[in-house]
Formats: sequence, structure tokens, C-alpha cells
Amino acid sequence: MFIELTDQLRCPADHEERFLVLLPDRMEGRSVRTGQLGCPICGRTFELADGVLDLGGAPAEGGWESVLDGAALTALAGLHGPGGYFVLVGPPADRWREVAERVPGVALVAVNPSAEVVDQESLSVIRGGRLPLRSHSMRGVVLGRPYGGEPAWVREASRVVLPGLRVVGEGADPPPDVIDLMATADGVWVGTAKR
Ligand SMILES: [Zn+2]
Repeated sequence: MFIELTDQLRCPADHEERFLVLLPDRMEGRSVRTGQLGCPICGRTFELADGVLDLGGAPAEGGWESVLDGAALTALAGLHGPGGYFVLVGPPADRWREVAERVPGVALVAVNPSAEVVDQESLSVIRGGRLPLRSHSMRGVVLGRPYGGEPAWVREASRVVLPGLRVVGEGADPPPDVIDLMATADGVWVGTAKR
């Protein structure tokens, strides 16, 4: 996990949003390889192992593949220029190298990627049943299948994306009270978070 991303993490428990405090054990460059993250409100702790934050509750791998390549992922998310974080949930995370080539200087976060995708200096891997990220903190979120068709995940993506920036989903159209749709075609939708 990229050390600076730890400033953008929140406790996944259902209490008021609060950041997690990092106690690193081992670093490689700017990547935390092992350590603990603790919540000052509820006292829960989460382990970082091989750089991965695993909160538990990640859905089983469904054998889906993303129909979007790196060019489509970055274009639909409207990413231009360096800085910030781009979140790829599910199958699109498997294409992170293509994305990284197109948006140098944007830190990538892979949520529930396939098992072959390993955490490394240029990619932070998170596993779990929700997004343990601060509200309004990310430059874009892509939800692959099945996440793009699941209202709970669409709500999470809408919560974490920066105001006015985009959420992309593969699946059924998102709830209209959560996402302002900009476009939808062939099972892929693009929108902004409704505030
Ligand atoms: Zn907590």
C-alpha cells in the first residue's frame, strides 16, 4: 500500500467517518508492506500483509472480465493530468498496467482484483465488502461486474468520488437518487455523484 494512501483510509464500521491510524512494521520505498491500521473510535485493527489491506467480506470472484481496456477506462472516467487516486473495483483492476501507462502520476487503487494482481509500489490493493476510503477523496471510480449493478457499491463509489468527478459502472443503470447519469451504452454507464 502506497504510504500516502493511508491518509485517505477510513474505518469501514458503521460509525461516523474517521480516519485510520497507521503503525507500519515494514516499508519498501514508499510502500507499506506490513503493519496495522487502527480506528480511534471503535478500536478495531486491520492488518496490512504483503501490502494488502483485507477487511474481509469481499465477494467471491465471479469469473467476470471487464469489457473496457485501459484507454476506455481512463477516457470514460475523464482522467487528465497527474495527481490523486483512481479506484478500479473488480475486473477492471486486472487492467491496471494499461491504465497506469495512460495516466502517469495518478496513484491506482485496486479493490478486489483477481488473485494474480499483487500489491506493489505503483498499485495499492484493498480487499473487502465496501470501500474503506474517505468521502470525496478520489479522482474517479470504476465498478466492474458485478459491482456496477449493485446499489450498495454504487453508493460507496458515489460517496468516495470528489465532487463533480466521475463514476463508471459495468452493469444495470445505477439508482437515479445516487448517480446523475451522463451516458449509458452496451451495459456501461458513466455519471457523477448526486449531492
Ligand atoms: Zn471504527
